[in-house]
Amino acid sequence: MSQHRVVVLGAGVSGLTAAFILSKNKNYSITVAAKHMPGDYDIEYASPWAGANYLPVGKEGTPSQEYERNTWPELAKLAKEHPEAGIHFQDTLVYRRKKDKGPVSEWFAELIREDAWFSKVVPNFKVLSKEELPKGMDGGTSFTSVCINTAIYLPWLVSQCLKNGVIFKRGVVKHIADATLLHHSGKKADLVVNCTGLFSLFMEGVQDKNMYPARGQIVLVRNDPGYMATTSGTDDGEDEAVYIMHRAAGGGCILGGCLQADRWDSAVDPNLAIRIMKRAIALTPELVPEGKGIEALDVIRHGVGLRPMRKGGIRTEKETIKGPDGNGVRVVHSIGHGGYGYQTSWGCAAAVVRLVDESLTEKARL
Ligand code: FAD
Repeated sequence: MSQHRVVVLGAGVSGLTAAFILSKNKNYSITVAAKHMPGDYDIEYASPWAGANYLPVGKEGTPSQEYERNTWPELAKLAKEHPEAGIHFQDTLVYRRKKDKGPVSEWFAELIREDAWFSKVVPNFKVLSKEELPKGMDGGTSFTSVCINTAIYLPWLVSQCLKNGVIFKRGVVKHIADATLLHHSGKKADLVVNCTGLFSLFMEGVQDKNMYPARGQIVLVRNDPGYMATTSGTDDGEDEAVYIMHRAAGGGCILGGCLQADRWDSAVDPNLAIRIMKRAIALTPELVPEGKGIEALDVIRHGVGLRPMRKGGIRTEKETIKGPDGNGVRVVHSIGHGGYGYQTSWGCAAAVVRLVDESLTEKARL
């Protein structure tokens, strides 16, 4: 049987995870084509900027919840058995304040529940007693999560794909149908997996108007408090957040953040950076020696990334799209992973692979 030619457009965590799972099927000949690849840092490329940890936020009964549920065992397995992937387990504290409202507290609505659906998914889930809560917190939970060093994990995904014969190439397309011309064989691809994140808003043939950015600013420091923590909100505005994530394998500690909807600006806001550092020390005083403030933080870099948000949630869907030449092109979308692209990655990619299999089986029958 001849191989099906597949182009995965996009080399963020969504494209790379889908390509890796697809590459286990020897009936597929796969090219990953993208404007940005692991190693690049660019405002148009969300994946390198992520913390990234596993803090489930999917609402009960949604595809996101299913993807998060199905992703945990894969990330845990990598943390246990494949240290070279750059993922480690971390004790995690999640605090809740009654007064918090607005975008950040809505984002964390499932995360902060004492009866959270994921309490039976992650190890060591526990509701904190009053005595264990810092001043100002009304409730909290603790559990074991993971933190991913994206600077190691994304290249690790590339190396797994290369081992399975996937070919990588740079390419920028204007119309999704043009991605069929990027297959390394020189022949037209049978199917395109669309993993272009936020830029599906503009790409001809897709132009998904439900996509929008949510700006996230971070500070990467050498300090390590020894655990991860977050809260349902801050006193600095409803779209500001506080989270501390300690990356595996010397990756430093990410201090965040914010969730600024419809903001595209890539420049670091220095005032926000100061608020981020102050809030991080207030929540995790172990970041700095006792009595010290932000001057004791050893900054590696400041950064800004745009979360590829989507009204209606993640889009995993197959479609036939008419190209500029009038011919239909089979496409499977995997876009709109918002602030949860890593923690949904394996579950979502498995759903994408099922859609690719279905679409190419239909094609073979025609
Ligand atoms: P991207 O990483 O943006 O990749 C898109 C790809 O498509 C790129 O390769 C790009 O070059 C390519 N592309 C786009 N347009 C074209 C074109 N026309 N032609 C060719 N190629 C194109 N998630 C978590 O799970 N946990 C976290 O802790 C977490 N923390 C985060 C913190 C911050 C500050 C930010 C910004 C995000 C965070 N996220 C987190 C979210 C996560 O980073 C994203 O959901 C995820 O990276 C999206 O990946 P993606 O592959 O869909 O898109």
